[in-house]
Amino acid sequence: MKSLRTIFRYAAKYPKLILAYFSCNIISNLFSVVSLGMLSPFLLLIFKKQDISQGVSRNTGFFSRINPVDQFKSWLYEILKTPNGDIKALGFICILILSFIILKNIFLYMGIYFLTPVRNAVVNDMRTKMYKKILVLPVGYFNDQKKGDIMSRFTNDLSDVESSVINLLETLFREPVTIIIFFAYLIILSPQLTFFLILFLPISGLIIGRIGRSLKKHSTRAQEKLGAILSTIEETLGGIRVIKAFNAEKKQYGKFEKQNNELLIIKNRVNRKRDLASPVSEVMGVAAVVCVLWYGGRLVLRNSFLNPGDFLTYIVIFSYIIQPLKTLSAAAYNIRKGAASIERIEHLIAEDVSIKEIANPVIINNFEDSIEFKNVSFSYENKVTLEDINLKIEKGRTVALVGSSGAGKSTLVDLVPRFHDTVNGELKIDGINIRDYSLVSLRNQMGIVTQEPILFNDTIANNISLGMDNATEDQIINAAKIANAHQFILQKENGYDTIIGERGNKLSGGEKQRVTIARAVLKNPPILILDEATSSLDTESEKLVQEAINNLMNNRTSIVIAHRLSTIRHADEIIVLQKGKIVERGTHMSLMALDGFYHRLVMMQEVK
Ligand code: ADP
Repeated sequence: MKSLRTIFRYAAKYPKLILAYFSCNIISNLFSVVSLGMLSPFLLLIFKKQDISQGVSRNTGFFSRINPVDQFKSWLYEILKTPNGDIKALGFICILILSFIILKNIFLYMGIYFLTPVRNAVVNDMRTKMYKKILVLPVGYFNDQKKGDIMSRFTNDLSDVESSVINLLETLFREPVTIIIFFAYLIILSPQLTFFLILFLPISGLIIGRIGRSLKKHSTRAQEKLGAILSTIEETLGGIRVIKAFNAEKKQYGKFEKQNNELLIIKNRVNRKRDLASPVSEVMGVAAVVCVLWYGGRLVLRNSFLNPGDFLTYIVIFSYIIQPLKTLSAAAYNIRKGAASIERIEHLIAEDVSIKEIANPVIINNFEDSIEFKNVSFSYENKVTLEDINLKIEKGRTVALVGSSGAGKSTLVDLVPRFHDTVNGELKIDGINIRDYSLVSLRNQMGIVTQEPILFNDTIANNISLGMDNATEDQIINAAKIANAHQFILQKENGYDTIIGERGNKLSGGEKQRVTIARAVLKNPPILILDEATSSLDTESEKLVQEAINNLMNNRTSIVIAHRLSTIRHADEIIVLQKGKIVERGTHMSLMALDGFYHRLVMMQEVK
């Protein structure tokens, strides 16, 4: 039910369209009912025309006055009295039935026409909300597992919502209207018979509902089993080398076979139950009709209250109610199916944004003095990653971070642009806690070159000017020249307008790096954060990239994560991190003299 409320909340943004859909539905149903109502005079006319007048005289009173079919019958009676009246009347009835059915369908289509944009907009709005959310969530939120999970919310969950729950929107707005209008007409036709029906219907509803519930339980189990089989297959595909090398095919097959057989048993059960639903509901439906036939037939035979034409119309309209009732109960089943997806989507949308600006943030226009870490610590969830970091980086200086993988280097530099917030301690820029600055102005002070070049499927020029909408062509070219990229860009087929493919896969590793360096040059930030990555490049590219990096670092304050220790020998301070703590610090010379961890690292790389 909560998921239903969520969908209504989204749909409520389009009240006019929903109202139009609703109105069209009502009109379409009215035409439908009236066209079915024509059956009664038609039948009477064919079999015993004088009964038309009887029909009128019998159903006097309130219902007769509001019943257009009764009005029509009186009118027909007048026509019948004219010469050749019966043929004329028949022609009128046929023309009217056709006209009403055409009108009914026109309004039916108009209803769907108005609802379509709502259906699509609900899914679109959800997608937009999720996308906006991922842009504001802190960097720390996205580990690998989360990324896959988020993707599946955008794809599987959203399409589930589209296929099951949004269809429901249509059903919920349409079927009750149909049922109410048809039911109202049944009451008009014969209040006694309808009262009898109301007593009987809940019993058959209950029986059909029972089958549905047990079906749902089993199909959930079938879904779970299928999920397990899929993960076994995935595991097998991923580990096929190991499975073969260790002759584990038999064991793996045994696992698969067991799950597959279990699924077979459950599926047989589900299918049998599902197949049972149709005959049972037919029997129940016919039983209801038979009861109506019996009770209604008695009313007709006793020649009281109900004429045969109305009685037959009654049965037809009653059979028209069964379908929307079935659709509604199927919808109730679908809500449950889509509810999990809606919940997952809403959960992402409601995710707390932990990196927030204060109410009146300070704007930092120029970095003047220093970046200072004071007793800073940080944890991912409960895992302490940085502990008691104290570090002051004066303007214009270069600080290098070294340490083994997982030591906390990336986490430490991520604190400066507030990708994460410190858990304890303070991080100050120019003496002010960075939490007091506006996020945009803070990040404007920084340029970031990551280890894995992050490029977008766009032109080279647009990749360089990312986030700098006002950059001129000259500025872009100039930045590319400083980054040693101008030459290779000119050699591409469309120069700066060359589209570089997904993640820049049309460029070589060194070229990608130089484009990202050009991006940082163009932004011209006073503070530079550099996750150095020259290790994967060949010597020639490495030289070009290193040169570009040196140009970039000129006259800036830099924090460098160093992988090649040879590149940071001239850093003003080298910080050695281990398990989130600073274990050594100093210049290259002093650290070498210390003969500690740094010395060992340098030795190891030189041996290589
Ligand atoms: P380094 O850059 O020195 O290799 P990191 O700062 O990337 O180290 O990682 C430090 C520790 O924090 C590692 O143990 C890593 O597994 C963990 N870690 C990194 N990112 C996340 C994250 N988003 N969620 C949870 N733990 C993380």
